[in-house]
Parts: sequence; structure tokens; C-alpha cells
Amino acid sequence: MAVSKTHPAEALGEAAGAGILLFGENRVQEYESKRPRLRELGVDGEVHLIGHLQSNKSAKTAELFHAVDTIDSLRLAERLNEAASRLSKTLPILIEIKLSPEPTKAGLTPDDPDLFALLDQLPDLPNLPLRGLMTIAPLDDNPEAARACFGRLRRLRDTLAHQHPRLDFSTLSMGMSGDFEVAIEEGSTLVRIGTALFGERPRPG
Ligand SMILES: *Cc1c(COP(=O)(O)O)cnc(C)c1O
Repeated sequence: MAVSKTHPAEALGEAAGAGILLFGENRVQEYESKRPRLRELGVDGEVHLIGHLQSNKSAKTAELFHAVDTIDSLRLAERLNEAASRLSKTLPILIEIKLSPEPTKAGLTPDDPDLFALLDQLPDLPNLPLRGLMTIAPLDDNPEAARACFGRLRRLRDTLAHQHPRLDFSTLSMGMSGDFEVAIEEGSTLVRIGTALFGERPRPG
């Protein structure tokens, strides 16, 4: 996945020309404002939301995105399922798991009761087929520091898949520019690459 957040539509156009078929954007509004230009450029790749989603943006999200990789509550899943259902749309999802103690990181911890409530409820949310799990490793200059985190996500996936045989856990979204090799060694099926493809992002402010 090419993570194109903060980069202009033209950058996605170039990437699409080089064969990229899947993009990640982290803000609903930013992607919405790029869309007209992407249409003009003929970019028709799949776009996943990979940023934190507030449930009041569910309708817009269901309308604009092909999938949401950052589901972190049952309430959000219910709102999004409703929105997708109104559009007669199927919106595949990943559940975001928080494995590092950094307070700013979104996601459900492996022992959060809301995770089990969500997994129990998903078979009743037909417009939101589960595809697997995603995580963001703690920021560290040494990619080896992320290895333990990636291994934990893989083992959690194996456990949950065993407990919920009706759900699809085939996708493990883990690994970014700084640590994707380690993530692949630990079983990643979907790496999310921004900087290594598009260069440094402008710093906010
Ligand atoms: C920005 C972002 C990435 C890409 O990060 P790079 O280090 O630039 O590759 C991957 N995943 C998520 C969720 C992001 O927000």
C-alpha cells in the first residue's frame, strides 16, 4: 500500500502510472479534497482509510473509501455498517490493535472487552466483512524493536482466528518505511509505505 497522505493528487497519479494499485489516506477530508483531481488524472486504484475515524464521519467514509483499516470500537463498526448499508456498499475492514503503551496510539488492546464484543457482533454487520488486523509499531530508529510487536500481532491473529472460525483474518497490515522488512519476516501481508515511496512529508505547522 502506498501511503499518500499529505501528498498531492499528482503524486498518486505518478504512483498509479508506475503500477501502484492500492493507496492509504489518513484523513477523510483530505482525501475528499483530492478526489476531483484524482478523477481528472484517471487514478482508479483502491483507497483505504488508515487514520483514526470519528463515528460522525461514518457516512462520508462509507461513501468515499474502498475499505477502512482502523476500526477500533464496536460503536464505530455499527455506525459504519449502517452507513454502508444505506449505500448498498460492502466496506471491508481491519481491526486496529494497540500493542505499544504510547498513549497517543489508537486501537484496541488484546485484552479489551470491546475487542471481544466487536468480534462477536461482526457476523451481524453484513456490510463490513472483516479481513484481518492492523497495528502500528512503536516509533524507534531500530527496526528490530518492532519485531516483538509484529510477532505479537501475528500470534494474536492466530488465536482469534482459531476462536472465530467464521471470520476472515487473512490480512496482517503491519510495517512502514522504517520497518517493513522486519514486518514481512514476521508475517505481514500488507505493508504501508509512505516516505520510502514519496519522500519526506511536510511537517505540520
Ligand atoms: C503515515 C502512515 C504510514 C506510512 O509511514 P511511513 O513511515 O512514511 O512509511 C503507515 N501507516 C499509517 C497508519 C500511517 O499513518
